[in-house]
Amino acid sequence: MSDQLVIDTLDFVYSSKTLQGNVPLSNLERLKDYLASSTGKLTYLVTGLLDEQERPMLEISVNGAIDLSCQRCLGKIEHTLDVKAVLLLARNEDELQRYDEDIFADAIYASTELDILALIEDEVILSLPVSPRHENIECHISARAKKCETSVSVKEHPFTVLASLKRPH
Ligand SMILES: [Zn+2]
Repeated sequence: MSDQLVIDTLDFVYSSKTLQGNVPLSNLERLKDYLASSTGKLTYLVTGLLDEQERPMLEISVNGAIDLSCQRCLGKIEHTLDVKAVLLLARNEDELQRYDEDIFADAIYASTELDILALIEDEVILSLPVSPRHENIECHISARAKKCETSVSVKEHPFTVLASLKRPH
């Protein structure tokens, strides 16, 4: 793909680089599976820096508005993305294990060819609610469910009939 964006992660950090831009939702094939519509775009900012322990890391933030599908009524849910992630860059397995123990950050292998858009897409997917649903009041199903309840109460008639049969004459 022509819009692939590849960085050398350690060079990116030690040169204190930043990368910002937009990516159309329609370019994010994996994310599209979660969306009710793929119009619109995401804004991202990736910063390379060293933390207080001099560990190289990438700081990622992604913003934008997306439409998810409600798991109850399949209608659209507007969802505002405000994703922030910190990824420590491990140079070997030892470091990766050590960094993984850090509860405040995730770790990945440093790479000379890291696909930034794929990374951004991963972080966005990880941030999504597992089972998005409307608030009850907005959900189309809840209106329908109420109608169901009414029809259920109609079905209670046989019991009423039964009850009246049991009543002593
Ligand atoms: Zn709904």
